[in-house]
Amino acid sequence: MTEVAQLFSSFQGLNELLAVYNDLDLLITAFKNKTQLDCLKGCRECCNTPAYHIEASVLEMLPLSIHIWQSGEGEYWLQKLSETRPEEPCVLYISSPSVKSEGGCSQYGWRPLLCRLFGFSAIMHKHGKPVVALCKEAKKINPHLEGKIQGLIDGGLKVPINSHFAERVSFLNPFYGQKLYPINEAFRLALEVVGYRLTLISDIQSDSGNTPPKGPSLGKIA
Ligand code: SF4
Repeated sequence: MTEVAQLFSSFQGLNELLAVYNDLDLLITAFKNKTQLDCLKGCRECCNTPAYHIEASVLEMLPLSIHIWQSGEGEYWLQKLSETRPEEPCVLYISSPSVKSEGGCSQYGWRPLLCRLFGFSAIMHKHGKPVVALCKEAKKINPHLEGKIQGLIDGGLKVPINSHFAERVSFLNPFYGQKLYPINEAFRLALEVVGYRLTLISDIQSDSGNTPPKGPSLGKIA
């Protein structure tokens, strides 16, 4: 087992979190294909909001944090987060359209649950009926879209339910998975937790005469 795989396994529920993301991505792909719904080209509006509007758990930010420390950028991001005010957007958001990035996210593949669900999911109505939650930009461009997609859902089209996925993820790790923070705060906490754990692993390896971990590639895990 690689050191990074060991690090993943050392956090309860982290490998399972990637499996949940995989399930969700498959479901969203099928939903998008069926509805022809997609993000508007070049739109970055969902991330262009104060970070306290977007919540994540520490667990959800752990995969990215492991990747960041492995890339040698842990100190850089901790410093950046310490200089960011709460009303500023997520630190991973790239506002400039000239910088190429999927949806304006500099770490798209590592984004947390809410960022994956946004615009392609439904909330559960109190009467037990899924109600599609589209982003306001998509509704502005096509006012009939919501009704059309809701009709498909009423007819049996599968749609990710926000609360179902949130519950699944929160139960993966009772300590790091249950409490939600503004995304920048969750990222900072996750970076600290991973940095601390890497230091411990490094100390143990040094004491036993082994070379401390250098941060192997996460490619096989992500
Ligand atoms: S993690 Fe990425 S997708 Fe989520 S708010 Fe930040 S920039 Fe946007």
